[in-house]
Amino acid sequence: MAAPDAIILDRDGVINEIVFRENRPVSPRSLQDFIIREDFREFYLLIAPLPIRLFAASNQPDIRRGNLTVDVLEGMTDLIRNEFPKIEEIVYCCHDDADKCSCRKPKPGLLIGLRDKYNLASDKTYFVGDSRRDILAGAELGFRTVFLAAGYNQESLQKCNPQIIVHNLVELTHVWGKLECHS
Ligand SMILES: [Mg+2]
Ligand SMILES: [Zn+2]
Repeated sequence: MAAPDAIILDRDGVINEIVFRENRPVSPRSLQDFIIREDFREFYLLIAPLPIRLFAASNQPDIRRGNLTVDVLEGMTDLIRNEFPKIEEIVYCCHDDADKCSCRKPKPGLLIGLRDKYNLASDKTYFVGDSRRDILAGAELGFRTVFLAAGYNQESLQKCNPQIIVHNLVELTHVWGKLECHS
């Protein structure tokens, strides 16, 4: 598989750690709970020197549900921007199902927005997520879909059909790493 031109990352569970509340995986609602994943740091360092563009696309229904303030969400975004400046843009859907928006994944609106704004080629763009919603949204646009598997999302994995399954983000660089070495 060829190295991608661009990688779009889901945020929660990919860039930052999932939070467990009453044993259920949820999104962080405070800056205190917003912890960058170690494998994302490693992945970022590997990607940083490569000609691969990085973006992020995230559902944040906690905004609509009143569980997360816009200020805290902006604080999280600032943190990512400051530490990982190669990520060119982070786009959010702050709606819930009842809003019937076109951007809440599995709807593809967030990804369409990035694809069109940055002229991304579908077959050279990877979309990395930790849920069925991510894989469905990515597949809708013909992106290469990558599922980041963990203990908490096995059921989600059973309900979708990602092209690539990895258990940490560094593994993803091995998918195209071999090809690059021989070319
Ligand atoms: Mg996620
Ligand atoms: Zn939305």
